[in-house]
Amino acid sequence: MNYDTALSYSSQWLDIIKQENFPDETQAKWIIEESKNNFAEHFNRGWLEYRKSVTEAGDWASVEWSGKGSMFTDVMGRKYIDWLGGFGALDLGWCHPDVVDAVIAQVKRSPMPSQELIDPLRGVLGKLMADITPGDLKYSWFAASGTEAIEAAIKIAKLYTGKSAFIVAVKAFHGKTMGSLSMMGKADFRQPMGLLYGGNVYHVPFGDAGAVEQQLEICDNVGIDVAGVLFEPIQGEAGAIVPPDDFWPRVRTATRKYGVLLIADEVQTGLGRTGRLWGVDHWDVAPDILATAKSLGGGVMPISAVTTTEEIFKPMMYPNPFMHTTTTGGNALACSAAIATINVILRDRLWEAASTKGAYLKEKVDDLAQEFPQVYKEVTGKGLLIGQHFHTPELGYKVAAELFKRGVVVAGTLNSAQTVRIEPPLIISQEEIDEGLNRLADAVGVVAKMM
Ligand code: PLP
Repeated sequence: MNYDTALSYSSQWLDIIKQENFPDETQAKWIIEESKNNFAEHFNRGWLEYRKSVTEAGDWASVEWSGKGSMFTDVMGRKYIDWLGGFGALDLGWCHPDVVDAVIAQVKRSPMPSQELIDPLRGVLGKLMADITPGDLKYSWFAASGTEAIEAAIKIAKLYTGKSAFIVAVKAFHGKTMGSLSMMGKADFRQPMGLLYGGNVYHVPFGDAGAVEQQLEICDNVGIDVAGVLFEPIQGEAGAIVPPDDFWPRVRTATRKYGVLLIADEVQTGLGRTGRLWGVDHWDVAPDILATAKSLGGGVMPISAVTTTEEIFKPMMYPNPFMHTTTTGGNALACSAAIATINVILRDRLWEAASTKGAYLKEKVDDLAQEFPQVYKEVTGKGLLIGQHFHTPELGYKVAAELFKRGVVVAGTLNSAQTVRIEPPLIISQEEIDEGLNRLADAVGVVAKMM
């Protein structure tokens, strides 16, 4: 415990936060040392070693400093093309001016609600979500992270149906708090935790509509009550896995048949990423509950939402309207960012940009995969959610590392180390796409020679 040290260290960093000039070399080196030490001693030493591309490139001490559009700069002044897009949190790129302006205006007036009066922006965002989501989804509940939105979806489904089982997908990723983790489709993060959600959770292969139908039928026959079926429209962390076209429509029909709620986790696919505003729009399916997060705050503020119909939301309003709450969820600052984000996405029709740019990018990466079949297994995805699947995790690391050396940032996925996603901001320019592709071709060529 040392209050004096904490006081002077925080003052020192406040000066750095507020400084307008770019750090000179001496200051930059000091910042790198401090960042390294602080991560190693007080945050998570493993992170320093685990960041794949950066570690393999031998430059794991890179410290980011500022960003604009699809480019960011590290503290030494090196520039990177962002092909990672914060794992889907930066659809609008770094520091989108319209979102930043809205947030600055709001922060000066009232960033947090009183908690007693009615705060206008929460209602505005609820209305906007009703306007832009499919079907008759109408009521929203807000938090900060994707996993909180999934937790809320689980609770809402249980509350409404009075049932407790869920059907989810192998390799699914829905977040890491206990409820969401229970719905995850990979052992790595589940197994060390032992007993998870108390109700039944059944995992079926993603994209296999027959397996979902069969599981629903079995549960019905043996008297296990299913509250919801939860899927990502296109699996993100698993490596941009697109299901067959019959999957979502058949799952919609089957869930209706058995009176089970259909929950779409649009945390990564939502808001234009895959070339439609929502992932489920590719198949014209309206889910009963839809979870949004990541880019909802425009890459400026964390905010997540779960949106559902009036009928399903009723038990969240009566008899106890505080059935599920969080103090800072839907705060005015986060809502101002989300309102600006929705405005920009609709105004600039960013899903169309994702569709066109994604088709171009995927075709070029496909060409590269055909040229280097010894490196690539396949390329998957839709819009600007593209998965490069390599034959081995080592090959994936190496390609990511060579790309990093050439100033393009990507990352391996958490659930599939063999897969490296390309997920740039939707506002990425044609030049940045082409420049990234040149560097990718270079990187893959070098890795192929190493084999
Ligand atoms: N759902 C999906 C589909 C995700 O991709 C993620 C995160 O990657 C989450 C939920 C969890 O979101 P968060 O990390 O904000 O808790």
